[in-house]
Amino acid sequence: MPEGKIVKALSGFYYVLYNDDLIQCRGRGVFRKNKITPLVGDEVVFQAENDQEGYILEVKERKNELVRPPIANVDLAILVFSAVEPEFSTVLLDRFLVLVEFNQIEPIICITKMDLTNDEEQKKISEYAAHYQAAGYEVIMTSSETETGIELLHPHLEDKISVFAGQSGVGKSSLLNVLRPDLELKTNDISTHLGRGKHTTRHVELIKVGNGLLADTPGFSSLDFTDIEAEDLTSCFPEILRASEICKFRGCLHLSEPKCGVKQAVESGEIPTYRYDHYVDFLQEIKDRKPRY
Ligand code: GDP
Ligand code: ZN
Repeated sequence: MPEGKIVKALSGFYYVLYNDDLIQCRGRGVFRKNKITPLVGDEVVFQAENDQEGYILEVKERKNELVRPPIANVDLAILVFSAVEPEFSTVLLDRFLVLVEFNQIEPIICITKMDLTNDEEQKKISEYAAHYQAAGYEVIMTSSETETGIELLHPHLEDKISVFAGQSGVGKSSLLNVLRPDLELKTNDISTHLGRGKHTTRHVELIKVGNGLLADTPGFSSLDFTDIEAEDLTSCFPEILRASEICKFRGCLHLSEPKCGVKQAVESGEIPTYRYDHYVDFLQEIKDRKPRY
């Protein structure tokens, strides 16, 4: 039986990408039995009726699952932040990074609107970029206006399912337009999809970019730390995780415990103070969370 990937779900049909063909499939009873609703991103086994139509027989095990928008098997999250307009925010970037790390999805950081920066702003952005690179993250600087740096994104997308994430207005749909100019998506379309508070089901589609698939709707639209526990937070900051290897106490939260490797690394300047401060703020936020019962 052939296997393919669901790239679109609409009106009870699942569109399965198989080689370079799109097969319009219906689900067979299996899902009702297993209570699985096929999702965009799912690997499926299907039976073809002809060149264009078929039935999904089986949904393969998922490696992960995003809720808003619903996408399975996300490999890469491209965290899109503008250098200016809106101003670059490390606290918001760190929040996204924590959520992406917690979901065990690989993040890369894309800083857009570089064409709008002056020398001073460029210097500042380069300093931040160096910090995040030292932490272990890939940082790419782009301009959709001048189509600069876009080629650096391509190799990361190859053979993966990727999603953009980032606040409204940072340039996600503009990037998508540069990556797939033929689609003529309207600028800001992607952010209206965010439509928080609306009761419409969000439609998401994976579009081909080179050899990869990219969601046309941004992921991580909810930025709260609901499922994250205090002990999980260390591993969401790679440089804090590395420094914590020499903490004396197991389960050290790097606050006021003695012989803490993380505090030492902050004092020596190895870990930027703002990264540590965000860690502490997020930890407090998690501790202050009301119990969910
Ligand atoms: P989204 O909400 O993240 O999808 O952001 P958009 O792609 O809709 O961009 C918001 C605004 O920023 C639009 O007016 C874009 O034209 C503008 N914009 C996006 N990327 C760039 C860029 O690289 N350079 C400049 N100068 N403007 C940009
Ligand atoms: Zn510690």
